[in-house]
Amino acid sequence: MPRRTKIVATLGPATDDPKILDDIIHAGVDVVRLNLSHDHHDAQRQRAERIRNRARACGRQIGVLADLQGPKIRIGRFKAGAINLSEDDIFMLDADCALDAGDQQRVGLTYPQLVGDVARGDTLLLDDGAIVLWVSDVEGNVIRCKVIVGGRLSNNKGINKQGGGLSAPALTDKDRNDIRFAAEIDVDYLAVSFVRNGEDVKEARRLLDEAGGTGGIIAKIERAEALDSIEEIIKSSDAIMVARGDLGVEIGDAELPAVQKELIKTARGMNCVVITATQMMQSMIENPIPTRAEVFDVANAVMDGTDAVMLSAETSVGKYPHKVIEAMDRVCSEAEKHQTARRSHHRIDSVFGRVDESIAMATMYTANHLGVKGIAALTESGSTVKWMSRISSDIPIYALTRHVRTRRKVTLYRGVYPVSFDVASTNVDKVNEEVIDELLRRGEVREGDLVIITKGDRSGVEGQTNIMKVMRVGEHVLAEDTIKR
Ligand code: PGA
Ligand code: MN
Repeated sequence: MPRRTKIVATLGPATDDPKILDDIIHAGVDVVRLNLSHDHHDAQRQRAERIRNRARACGRQIGVLADLQGPKIRIGRFKAGAINLSEDDIFMLDADCALDAGDQQRVGLTYPQLVGDVARGDTLLLDDGAIVLWVSDVEGNVIRCKVIVGGRLSNNKGINKQGGGLSAPALTDKDRNDIRFAAEIDVDYLAVSFVRNGEDVKEARRLLDEAGGTGGIIAKIERAEALDSIEEIIKSSDAIMVARGDLGVEIGDAELPAVQKELIKTARGMNCVVITATQMMQSMIENPIPTRAEVFDVANAVMDGTDAVMLSAETSVGKYPHKVIEAMDRVCSEAEKHQTARRSHHRIDSVFGRVDESIAMATMYTANHLGVKGIAALTESGSTVKWMSRISSDIPIYALTRHVRTRRKVTLYRGVYPVSFDVASTNVDKVNEEVIDELLRRGEVREGDLVIITKGDRSGVEGQTNIMKVMRVGEHVLAEDTIKR
């Protein structure tokens, strides 16, 4: 049984070696992430080109996701590289301090407006929460803080405000420029950092459209206020990412597990795709095997119903990029076996607004209850298979399409496998036969297996799926002949 949960891996210096890139492809990566917070466009463009070339050579389909930096607020740099803060020290975040002039008393800010967003009594978290500062007062452009948790503080570390409420809009000038770049390299997904509401998502989509991009939009849920507008965000997005790093800092780490489960459930219920991200296999940056806790974390995300699990530094700068993917692959596959696979109450009480959506739902109900070997969906945009993959099942969903962009997009959907199939040049009478032959050739089905095919009377047109056909492999030729006679 092929793994259903998809693996997203961040590319970086550690994966630039062509041999390592091939290793991670063979280990089973489904989508690669270009983190636009780091490296120049040239380096990222090369990575996108290389992965697509190598994937083609290996006969695989791999999606490309570009992740915008967003308004990540950072401190400036220290004259001496780093400082040590001790509990009860007084330390100043000073918007007037030059970005490279930090010292033991103060440091500059990449977002001077921060001074307007905080007040006495606020808690600021630096370096993903490693350093905790309590704001004792704000005067002019200086935020005066008392150190609650000290430690080593080095250049350019991020700042979050506990509880959220920072004014920064989701898209910076750098992001706008990066969106044009993302369109240029034709990414399959664009991840938008620190979205506050549905409007932020819509604006990113508009900018990507304007730049001629076709990718899906992923809203990264990493701000406290995003949780207040979650339905609106999900409605405007193709996928959401549970970005546990920044989200955990804003809402508190202890709140994360419940929020993760809730986000996954809400997203799936609203026909949205969901990625679970950050620190899933953190110790494998340095070590060749995961900790037990990491094994549980990945398995629990799979059991929660996530479409994909994501690796960040584990692959981009880690020592064992392909081993961490192999470990994730192993853990996902095992966790999937323990799912209540063929029972689903998904949208059982809802009314469907569309014919194609109804066919998708009927297909899953039939497939799960009849016990078919595979589902072959002839699709243009991939929306039929997206609906299907919202339903819990252990039956593979093959997305048969002539569009390479659709094949790449479905790499993120749980239980969906892209297959190149040109419906436009296939004789209408022969479509079913050709589909089954394709599955036979791939070794996915055998004589006697039941399969379901979905398609439209008007093939090759988006949104036209209106047929669900149950067939038994081996009898299909006969069936077509009988019809003709
Ligand atoms: P980042 O987003 O890695 O781009 O910060 C993920 C997260 O915050 O968890
Ligand atoms: Mn983040």
